[in-house]
Amino acid sequence: EAEEEIDFFFPKQQTLAIIKPDSMDEHREEILGEIRAGGFSISRLKETVLSRDTAEEFYREHRDKPFFSQLVDFMCSGPCMLLVLTKENAVEEWRSMMGPTDPGLAQVTAPGSLRARFALDILHNSLHGSSNQEHAQEKIHFLFGDIITSDRDLTSNGELDPTS
Ligand code: UDP
Repeated sequence: EAEEEIDFFFPKQQTLAIIKPDSMDEHREEILGEIRAGGFSISRLKETVLSRDTAEEFYREHRDKPFFSQLVDFMCSGPCMLLVLTKENAVEEWRSMMGPTDPGLAQVTAPGSLRARFALDILHNSLHGSSNQEHAQEKIHFLFGDIITSDRDLTSNGELDPTS
């Protein structure tokens, strides 16, 4: 009951995280440990090799960027781990734990961040995290299908419904 009251004032949020192929062999366990230590619940988890079609569709917002085909090649190059993370303010908190896109910049501006610690370069940068709640819900739906990602309902803005 106490937990329900807390959820009412601080509704939980979901975000999509991906451990990218470059970090799967060496850093996956440590990253999962950091996610749990950061207070996120792992609501869904799936290890998979993305097909080209899936990777292209997933990153379609970037289709006109010069790095698009490299990005798709990389995302299909080996297994990824897809994760739905649940926590109050999950989208922003996960972005902040990951750090900036470019690990060179991350090492300067966010040295404790996961990308600063594990990423190789701006393409092979260990992790994905949704940039806002709308994207999070769209991509979770795209990668996990129609299944409700928690045993509680979602409100229209993608937060867990505190009354459910
Ligand atoms: N990326 C790249 N070169 C760039 C910018 C991005 O290879 O100059 C790759 C990188 O893997 C990044 C992904 O494309 O994570 C998506 O880019 P976005 O700008 O959305 O960065 P993110 O939200 O992942 O930090």
